Amino acid sequence: MDNITIGLPRALMYSRYGVLWRGFFKELGARVLISEPSSRSTLERGSALSVDESCLASKLFMGHVDALVGKCDYILVPRIASFSHRARMCSRFQGLPDVTRVTFRNAPQKFLTYEVDVNHRRTEEDAFLHLGAQLGHGARESRRAYRRARKLMLRHYAREVRAQEALYKSDGMKILVCGHGYVLDDAYIGEPVLKGLSRLGAVPIRGDLVDRDAALRHSAELSPTCKWQTNRELVGCIAMNRRRVDGIVLLSVFPCGPDAMVNDLLLRRVQGIPMLNLVLDDQSGIAGIETRLESFVDIIRFKEGAL
Ligand code: SF4
Repeated sequence: MDNITIGLPRALMYSRYGVLWRGFFKELGARVLISEPSSRSTLERGSALSVDESCLASKLFMGHVDALVGKCDYILVPRIASFSHRARMCSRFQGLPDVTRVTFRNAPQKFLTYEVDVNHRRTEEDAFLHLGAQLGHGARESRRAYRRARKLMLRHYAREVRAQEALYKSDGMKILVCGHGYVLDDAYIGEPVLKGLSRLGAVPIRGDLVDRDAALRHSAELSPTCKWQTNRELVGCIAMNRRRVDGIVLLSVFPCGPDAMVNDLLLRRVQGIPMLNLVLDDQSGIAGIETRLESFVDIIRFKEGAL
C-alpha cells in the first residue's frame, strides 16, 4: 500500500477518531492528507454543495471533502450508527457515505468507508478489518494496526481529559462549554467561542472532553432515556460538573434535532446556574456571538457580586 494517500476531512468524527485513523493508516504504510482547518470559504463551499436542510456541521464536512477531492487516492467517510442498543449516533452519520458519494458523483474521486453498528453486531474492530481488506491487507495485519492505533487514541484522549480536569481547579470564572467535539474543535465555529470566553477573562472548559464512561453513568441523573451517545456524554458531563463551574454554555448548530431536544431539556432541568443557549447557523455564523458572551459573563459577575 506504499504511496497511497488517504484524505481525512477535518470535520464531524475527525475530532473523535482522528488519532485512530492516522495511527491505523500509518501502521499500514499509507500517507494521510488532512484538510486545512475550517474557514469562511470551507463553509461557503460546503453550503453550496448541501441541501438547505443539512446542519451546519454537515455543510462544513462537505466543504472539507471538497477541499480534498483530486488530492488523494481515497477519502475516508465512515458510517457510524450505534455503539450499543441504547447508544446511537444521529441519523446523519448513518447516511454520510451515501450522501457524500451522491454529492461528488461527478468527481473522479474514490471513497473509503467502514461501518460501526454494534446494535447489529458490527463492531469497530470488525469495521477496521474490513477497511484494511479494502486496501489489500490481511486480517492479522489490520487487527494489529487497529489495536495499536486504538491504544494511541485512548492515551491521547486521557491526556485531553486530564487537561480539562485541571481547569476545574483553576482560579477565576469557569464556564463549561457543552457542544459536540466537531463543533468545539472547528476553527471557524467552535474556536471563536472558546477564545471569546478566554478574552473576556473566563476559563472555558470543554464538556466533550470528559471521562466518557463516568459521564454516561451520570447522564441518567438528568435524562435516563437520551439515546444519542454524544449527547448523553454531554448531559453526563453537566450532571457531574455543574457545581464546579460558574456558568454553562450550550453550543449547537442549526438545524440539529438531537441538540434541540436535549438542550431544551437541560435548560429546564438544570437549575441554579446561569446557562446560555447558543445556536450557530450558516447565515449569521459567529456574528453577534461576542456580544452574547459578554452579556453572559457580565450576568455571572453581577450574580457573584463582582460588578
Ligand atoms: S447531531 Fe446535530 S450537529 Fe451533529 S450531525 Fe446530527 S444534526 Fe448535525
